[in-house]
Amino acid sequence: MKEKIEIVEGDITKQEVDAIVNAANTSLLGGGGVDGAIHRAAGPELLEETRKIGGCPTGEARVSKGYRLPAKWVIHTVGPVWRGGQKNEETLLANCYRNSLQEAVKIGAKTIAFPGISTGVYSFPLERATEIAMTEAKTFLESHETIEEVVFVCFGEKALKTYQDVFARVFG
Ligand code: ADP
Repeated sequence: MKEKIEIVEGDITKQEVDAIVNAANTSLLGGGGVDGAIHRAAGPELLEETRKIGGCPTGEARVSKGYRLPAKWVIHTVGPVWRGGQKNEETLLANCYRNSLQEAVKIGAKTIAFPGISTGVYSFPLERATEIAMTEAKTFLESHETIEEVVFVCFGEKALKTYQDVFARVFG
């Protein structure tokens, strides 16, 4: 299982995978952070499509095409805003990873790249978020053989170190 996990530092919009995951907001109309970067790189057709989708509740996922991105699809998921940990944040974040992977299976994507959902403006503690990401990926891969590669794209060195440490714990 662990050989299907890859941890890289870089920009998710540059990833040559079948699908990249967007840490979107419930409107699906774009925003800052990774969402803004994905919309800029994909081009205006992406917003046209996500406007038609008409929003996405927290924890769920929706699929669009990737347009000018190297990735064929974008899986938009909405992470929880961290409000101290008593508002179901952990379950909702786990749902984001599981539902995104489920969408990947449905569209036949074999390779998928994730950003650190909720770990930017939404302030989810990085280490706990990373544990949830890794645990959900592990559990999912154990029961779904069609996914060949899950790439965790770390934005910056601190995130990279955290992902490597958590990977060693979860898969070690
Ligand atoms: P959220 O609102 O879910 O917290 P953000 O976009 O603010 O979403 O941040 C999510 C994560 O994506 C953060 O860890 C941030 O550092 C990272 N990030 C921002 N831009 C990019 C990018 N171009 N590629 C990969 N990760 C990115």
